[in-house]
Amino acid sequence: MRRAHDDINPICRACSSIDETLGHVLGQCITTKAKRIKRHNEIVDLLKDRLAATNRVLVEPTVEHNGERFKPDFVITNEERVIVLDVTVRYKNRSFLTEAAKEKIDKYSNISNKLKRNFNAPQARVVPIVVGSRGALPAATIAELKQLNIRKTDWLTISLIALKSSIEIANAFMNN
Ligand SMILES: [Zn+2]
Repeated sequence: MRRAHDDINPICRACSSIDETLGHVLGQCITTKAKRIKRHNEIVDLLKDRLAATNRVLVEPTVEHNGERFKPDFVITNEERVIVLDVTVRYKNRSFLTEAAKEKIDKYSNISNKLKRNFNAPQARVVPIVVGSRGALPAATIAELKQLNIRKTDWLTISLIALKSSIEIANAFMNN
């Protein structure tokens, strides 16, 4: 709106902290935070159901490393490996989605190594599940979902949860 009408105040009508962009409303605004958590949890719940069929799943375990506490969405184990899995829904384009994956790997690689030792597992790795807030599933996310034996119908459901929740967030925001 601001681009067409110079007299419109660009600052977020809800929190007044920064410009009111779609990225801000869907990704950062404090007033939409509860709905963002709900969006994240819906995806986590779906994955939990699927993963629990063939893995031992620890939900939001607290893992300490160098005095710091980490709380990934899941630690999943079977005889072959330990996986530290974290879901993140992000606004923006594919390069930002790639950065989000790297951010998760950097954040959790130490505790992945620690859990590998603790569980005496042959392998351990961090699996970021990055989903675009408009439903995009980056190739890396699809590759991880395949490896986890999550079926294609569930990829679509994950994408739709992100998109639908984002529309709900935007609508609720505009109606406030
Ligand atoms: Zn705001």
